Amino acid sequence: MQELLNRKKGLHRRILIVDDEFIEREMLGNMLKGMYEVEYAEDGEAALDNIKRDKYKLSLIILDLHMPKLDGYSLLEILHSDPELRRIPVIVLTVEKEAEVKSLQLGAADFITKPYGVPEVVQARVMHSIELAENSVIIHETERDELTGLFHKEFFFEYGRKLDEQNDNAPMDAVVIDVNRFHIVNELYGREFGDMVLKKMGESIHGFVNENGGLACRSDSNCFYVYIPHRTDLKEMIPQQIEELDKVFAEPRISLRLGVYLDDGSCADMEQRFDRARLSCRRLSESYETGYAFYSAKLHDTELYNEHLLQDMDKALAGKQFKVYYQPKYNIEGDQPRLCSAEALIRWVHPAHGMISPGEFISLFEEKGLIHKLDRYVWNEAASQIRKWRDKYGVTIPVSVNVSRVDVFDPLLGDMLDRIIKDNGISHEDLLLEITESAYTDSSQQIIETVSALRGRGFRVEMDDFGSGYSSLNMLTSLPIDALKLDMKFIRNICVNKKDCALVEIMIKIADLLEVPIIAEGVETKEQVELLKSIGCEIIQGYYFSKPVPSDEFESFIK
Ligand code: C2E
Ligand code: MG
Ligand code: MG
Repeated sequence: MQELLNRKKGLHRRILIVDDEFIEREMLGNMLKGMYEVEYAEDGEAALDNIKRDKYKLSLIILDLHMPKLDGYSLLEILHSDPELRRIPVIVLTVEKEAEVKSLQLGAADFITKPYGVPEVVQARVMHSIELAENSVIIHETERDELTGLFHKEFFFEYGRKLDEQNDNAPMDAVVIDVNRFHIVNELYGREFGDMVLKKMGESIHGFVNENGGLACRSDSNCFYVYIPHRTDLKEMIPQQIEELDKVFAEPRISLRLGVYLDDGSCADMEQRFDRARLSCRRLSESYETGYAFYSAKLHDTELYNEHLLQDMDKALAGKQFKVYYQPKYNIEGDQPRLCSAEALIRWVHPAHGMISPGEFISLFEEKGLIHKLDRYVWNEAASQIRKWRDKYGVTIPVSVNVSRVDVFDPLLGDMLDRIIKDNGISHEDLLLEITESAYTDSSQQIIETVSALRGRGFRVEMDDFGSGYSSLNMLTSLPIDALKLDMKFIRNICVNKKDCALVEIMIKIADLLEVPIIAEGVETKEQVELLKSIGCEIIQGYYFSKPVPSDEFESFIK
């Protein structure tokens, strides 16, 4: 850019005159010498060498059409097809009229007819062509991203809106493409490699837009927007395009996420189309495989609903709309089942949506980094409930609370739980902590450290949903845990499916090996209870005994 500006100030501009006739070269050169640096070439091949070598220094090429080796037309064609050489303006020297049209079609900026006539006219045409080209380069550079050559976002939206206006708002599809985990790609393979990935993405997208019409931009570091005239076959085209891209990015494997909005007439403008494409993109996980999703009205409704829940959360916490329910756990070792503890499970009694189960909001809160607020609330409520029951009935019912996989990363987790214990005057073994098995497999080192520290403080930690998270046996033996809670799906068919029954037996053996009790969750029938008892399961939780209930209803179990 700086070089361009210097040139604009008239510091140095270089012109290449290409003509096989010595006299013609000299005449033209003399007209321009005082104002420019002038170089000469006597045939097309020599000219091409010079142009390739000095492509950034040349301000203009003046080209004769009839030359040996490589003629002017062929040279024009070569220049025009090369994105780096295309920006150098070419004035063609012509004698006959047809040649003018043909050379303009091949991308020439202007022409000068032989014989030359007055020098002032030649000089003016030269000056004019150079300035026009320089201005357009400056515009091009401010509009476009240097690395990929695609538009910057602001210009993209501006031109997109113009395009819509010009086409009477014809239907347009919007595609958002993200390079997954791009910061890691940069870190692992270096910035240069990262740049190369973006550049290749830019090239592919450029090619796609050239073929199908429309516009594209790089919206931010690793994200691209494509705006194209609506086509009914885009659904089939996307997988093909992905296959092509996968070939380009096979080694090392780069994966993408594509969110697509197909115009169905329900969007008012370009921005809205891209909001929707972005939304479908965001809903995809950053997996190692390239994935894509099309926008749907259902997705839109879910997103709106989730947005409401997120907006309402703080008010709901303050207004105690969240209710902690308790589900009893029974020890079945003796003749009579004996209440041994409870699990605290949250429900949201929403003023507009009614009773909402945790399945609808826990992972949403986890994703948005809000789960710690809710969990802290539940832990406090549960601790205070333990204390109330103790004061009222003189017995301690230990209550287990769920600890989100996200909480595990909170360095103040242990301090906070200690505080809750202390504030409510209960002891560590009264508040049991449940952590789902998949948290162990996802971030094993972190979880081992956290759980060891919690146990060091005196807490007891139960592994929730055991059997669903693919722990290896090897890993299990090194895990610090105090109980295994069998995942519900194994219990469901335990009485009808021999394999499931055998699996549960194996898991009970594993618990024995680890010297921890096993808790079966989701037990609904008498047969399941008896079978579990016969194969050595000690503790049972499930609808057979009770659904999760509010604290006052739970009191009937204590009595
Ligand atoms: P979870 O911790 O594995 O809880 C057991 C789930 O099984 C509960 O669902 C419970 O109502 C249900 N359940 C219990 N017995 C039976 C049965 O016999 N049959 C059937 N079909 N289901 C049974 P719920 O309350 O909807 O909770 C779902 C999940 O939400 C929980 O799974 C837990 O992962 C999460 N969750 C609940 N409360 C909290 C909380 O306060 N904090 C966090 N972080 N997660 C929570
Ligand atoms: Mg649980
Ligand atoms: Mg569970």
